[in-house]
Amino acid sequence: MAVLNATHDPGLRSWVSTANLPDADFPIQNLPFAVFRRTGSGESFRGGVAIGDCVLDLGALHGLDPFRGSAAPALGACAAPRLNAFMALGEEAAGALRAALSQALRADSPDAQHLRSLLVPQHAVEYRVAADVGDYTDFYTSIHHALAVGRLFRPDNPLLPNYKWVPIAYHGRASSIRPSGQEFARPVGQVFPPAATAPQLAATRRLDYELEVGVFIGRGTELGTRVPLAAAESHVFGLCLLNDWSARDVQSWEYQPLGPFLSKNFATTVSPWVVTLEALAPFRAPWSRPAGEPAPLPYLDDAALRAGGAIDLNLEVWLDTARMRAAGVPPARMSHSNFRDSWWSVAQMVAHHTLGGCNLRAGDLFGSGTQSGPAADQAGSLLELSAGGQRPVRLPGGEQRTFLEDGDRVRLRGWCERPGYVRIGLGECVATVLPASALPDAAT
Ligand code: CA
Repeated sequence: MAVLNATHDPGLRSWVSTANLPDADFPIQNLPFAVFRRTGSGESFRGGVAIGDCVLDLGALHGLDPFRGSAAPALGACAAPRLNAFMALGEEAAGALRAALSQALRADSPDAQHLRSLLVPQHAVEYRVAADVGDYTDFYTSIHHALAVGRLFRPDNPLLPNYKWVPIAYHGRASSIRPSGQEFARPVGQVFPPAATAPQLAATRRLDYELEVGVFIGRGTELGTRVPLAAAESHVFGLCLLNDWSARDVQSWEYQPLGPFLSKNFATTVSPWVVTLEALAPFRAPWSRPAGEPAPLPYLDDAALRAGGAIDLNLEVWLDTARMRAAGVPPARMSHSNFRDSWWSVAQMVAHHTLGGCNLRAGDLFGSGTQSGPAADQAGSLLELSAGGQRPVRLPGGEQRTFLEDGDRVRLRGWCERPGYVRIGLGECVATVLPASALPDAAT
């Protein structure tokens, strides 16, 4: 588990003045990584680090060869068009680069003058997904979400007996993961409405978002090797926000017996910035189980997990509709939750994923599963907020929603704060629903 060091010092200030604003997502204590280029420029994508409202161009910085020691090859890996090689170097190399960048960006840095030309305003860049994601696994770690959804799908048996013992997941689709800013068409699928007598082909009428935390794997593992819980976090590069778009009517018809397929594989949106576990070190929280609940099996339990295995990460969903935007109505906050309430931790996800010898590769992505909290306004999906479409949610401006409509824009936000430390944010994960394409022609 990452420990506190000089890069977390709450007294640090940057020569990039916007990094010093009290509500900034990207103060000098954060230093998350992304892959970017100037919008519409045709430039090569390369790594960047966020500072205030700017990106420090790590490709250009590498050209200056400013660092010594293990920070130098780490910076070189960040000049590539994806960060897989950087992530593969592991936490020590990422930590060395973080320390060097922290030195270079602090207010009293002698490098400030010649590094200023390497800053690009974030409003003038476009992103791609930080890594080439080889495999994407979506977990189901919020028991509050599992219970709420279980009650809708199986009222007589909401929580299956394995839930409290096994970190449940399915293998998702990596090819349709896109960075924030994505616009995607409402998917078409096979549905079987309750009143129908046969399945139908239709554009989904129950399109939903899922508020999730994304976990990028850093140093990979060998096939046949299991990662013990104590070493699990050394294989994690960092966290982002993730929206696992879901077509609920397709899902309810297709999901048994092997889990979701077309209901989930048409789009997944991630925030561009990946916040390292090291940056999150001040915001760790004890991991526990409520009294009376079973302890995990021993391979998923240890003292370090109990002391600080959870992460106190605030999460929010915001929605605005086409009509709200046209009328100048600001986005509505749909819900808020905290990753601290997750039934399973990041380390438990890694340890369980590799239990049978499955290897992980740098840049692999985990989704945490929808992060819902215990209260009704902490539900991380419309399925829960609208009680399966039975209870419309009222929006400012007079509209209401059970599920998403064309033109709806969903924005996820995440941040950590704790007295005595500087607040850090994960930025935003935004995407917009477009109308469905035409249904395939009937056979003639
Ligand atoms: Ca999910």
